[in-house]
Amino acid sequence: MKQRPTRLVLLGHPVAHSLSPAIQNAALRSAGIPLTYEARDVLPPDLGVALERLVGEGGAGNVTVPHKERALGYCGRLTPVAQRVGAINTFWAEDGTLVGDNTDVGGFQHAVVALRGAAPAHDMIAVIGAGGAAAAVLAAIADWPACQVRVWNRTPARAAALVDRFPGVAVVAPSLAQAVAGAALVVHATTIGLANDEVPMDSRSLPRGADVIDLVYRPGETAWVRAARAQGHRACDGLPMLVEQAALAFERWFGRPADRGAMREAAFGR
Ligand code: NAP
Repeated sequence: MKQRPTRLVLLGHPVAHSLSPAIQNAALRSAGIPLTYEARDVLPPDLGVALERLVGEGGAGNVTVPHKERALGYCGRLTPVAQRVGAINTFWAEDGTLVGDNTDVGGFQHAVVALRGAAPAHDMIAVIGAGGAAAAVLAAIADWPACQVRVWNRTPARAAALVDRFPGVAVVAPSLAQAVAGAALVVHATTIGLANDEVPMDSRSLPRGADVIDLVYRPGETAWVRAARAQGHRACDGLPMLVEQAALAFERWFGRPADRGAMREAAFGR
């Protein structure tokens, strides 16, 4: 049986910059739950011990960069979506077993629907990047009717390994230009622009009418999102996805609705 969490933590390295504590603590306060969600900086070799200890204590929480794929290996049970992604971002204890889930998939799905009004169907989608976040994006797209994905990544072998896990859905593009050509939706899933105003591609090269989602989020939005919008594209940064994945995690832990308004307000006041 799922235990009500005795403590809530975010395990990452680094984690000091994370917005998750502010977002989750806003939801806990709104729900009147007397727990504090804490960020813990954990080095990769210490992850297994940290998770084992948390399960023993009835703890629950999230994992973030660089632990999402490695943490999956410590789980005694995975939800089907976590299995499909090959990475977890949310965990809890059930009868002494560590259960892993991935709410980035639902978070991304929500961000797309909020931007476009509906999930895409019969569309060409470009994904820039091939890490854990890109895997969550492909897992969401795999559920949409007849969508095709072209993946471009700085390291082609990593893109090839990712598309192999989504046969019939995704292919590797030989260049960034070929990835975005004719795309109805362009998704950026690398770390470019996280700490500065670098952009993954020139927004003037986006196909006419393409919608744009940057998984990266910053106060005042990312430079790429601002530039794409200035070119007339519908665009959003990673904040809607961040808030929704957090709300879905809260709902997994407590089995009750999360106050998304309070969570959004806690993240940059947007
Ligand atoms: P990851 O597994 O470490 O993957 C990093 C990706 O970024 C890889 O594709 C990597 O390419 C690429 N990359 C890194 N530096 C690059 C550079 N200088 N030039 C080109 N490509 C570069 O990380 P992740 O978990 O997928 O996260 C990716 C991004 O998504 C992060 O910015 C994260 O904050 C964001 N994210 C947002 C949400 C949200 O809720 N909004 C959720 C999850 C992740 P190589 O393979 O060539 O190294």
